Amino acid sequence: MKEEKKLTGKKPSKNDVKEVVKKLKKDLGMEYDNLWDVVSKDDKEFAWSFAEDYKNFLDLAKTEREFVTVMIETLEELGYENIDSKNILEPGDKVYKNIRGKAMAAAIIGKKPMTDGMNLIGAHVDAPRLDLKPNPIYEDNDLVLMKTHYYGGIKKYQWAAIPLAMHGIVFLKDGSPMTICIGEKDDDPVLTITDLLPHLGSEQMSRKATDVIKGEDLNVLIGGLPYPDKETSGRFKLAILKLLHDKYGITERDFVTAEIEIVPAQKARDVGLDSSFIGAYGQDDRVCAYTAMSALTNLEKADKTAVCLLFDKEEIGSDGNTGAQSRVYEYLLYELYARSLPELASANQLDFQKVLQNSSLLSADVTNAFDPTYSSVSDPRNNSYINRGITLVKYVGSRGKYGTSDANGEFFARLTRLLDKNEIKWQTGEMGKVDAGGGGTIAKFLAHLGMEVIDCGVPVLSMHSTFEVTSKIDVYYTHLAYQTFLRDF
Ligand code: MN
Ligand code: MN
Repeated sequence: MKEEKKLTGKKPSKNDVKEVVKKLKKDLGMEYDNLWDVVSKDDKEFAWSFAEDYKNFLDLAKTEREFVTVMIETLEELGYENIDSKNILEPGDKVYKNIRGKAMAAAIIGKKPMTDGMNLIGAHVDAPRLDLKPNPIYEDNDLVLMKTHYYGGIKKYQWAAIPLAMHGIVFLKDGSPMTICIGEKDDDPVLTITDLLPHLGSEQMSRKATDVIKGEDLNVLIGGLPYPDKETSGRFKLAILKLLHDKYGITERDFVTAEIEIVPAQKARDVGLDSSFIGAYGQDDRVCAYTAMSALTNLEKADKTAVCLLFDKEEIGSDGNTGAQSRVYEYLLYELYARSLPELASANQLDFQKVLQNSSLLSADVTNAFDPTYSSVSDPRNNSYINRGITLVKYVGSRGKYGTSDANGEFFARLTRLLDKNEIKWQTGEMGKVDAGGGGTIAKFLAHLGMEVIDCGVPVLSMHSTFEVTSKIDVYYTHLAYQTFLRDF
């Protein structure tokens, strides 16, 4: 018999003690690895190529409408069908739903009955931005500008003195929609919001940061060429109206009903001398929407029905008929359930409640990565960190967990077991210190339907800024986590 090494009997060597302590720490403690210490060389290559596709997608999808349009085009190429064209759904069917062009859903019908529950991922595709007001265009001292109303939580000063682009949709006299995208092509002009020169900025710089650039100061410079007739009043505005009409066939009236968003004009870029980060506008929450969709579309088939819900209006409270509070999403789930039955008429509310209560949803949304420059707002033991993988967030909310769905421990534990089994590293964290602030997600609105819900997503630096930063390995491993969940949960 092999003699066991024991600490008793004779004086243990320094090395023996070190080994035992190391083992005890590993077995009893909880530490979160930096992914770069544990991933393979292949993983790094996958992460890099995944990031290329992701960056390209971000450049094509800077608004919720663009995200939905491009994603549905992609889904159709992959053989997904519009659910509106289907009467009966069978296992293996791949369908999508376009929700008013601003939100969407996609699903793979599973082999198991829907009453066993669905595996869902919900993310949002709207992002903070500036919307044009209904009467935006005006002339002031020979300049032509546009009035905006900001959407979502922004630091207004970040939007001045940077190149901006104009994306949106205009409805022409006959009602036909026309999309607009100015400022993205290399030879396009860009727009900008002017800032005050520091030489004259002493009063401005003494203001609170929320007022350095005020809401009514977010005026976009769009022109300065006059209509060539000195006698005409408002000739600078007239020249721009004429340009808009000549180029796009639109009039000032068309802006009243248009939905036009002002977004940063720059493209997604690699960040860092080692190119290990991705910098781009609108990664909250398109990084989770994109990884959720890449996870779904990587699945050939599903045991449980796998669903991705991509919401609009999260950044302003999930209201409206495209936001997560809308019953349109519940009806969509009912439709998936009812159409998957052999007889549509056998669908009933009791069974649908079973579907909902047996379902699990990952509320896929970004988290605030620990930033050493702003460490004072975080509890370092309970914050997410860059390069430690997907963050599982039990609760969000503020002022004593107010306004959160607070994931059930049973569900949270089952999720961590699944990820561990598949060697997918995860971390956990709260949004900042207790009472330092807080935020909400779509989680609680889906939890209201009775399903199990937990928040989880990619850690982000400079969240809600015009240039948000994520890590390539976090993005790739979040994709893997979502795929594992949809396939095996
Ligand atoms: Mn978000
Ligand atoms: Mn957000």
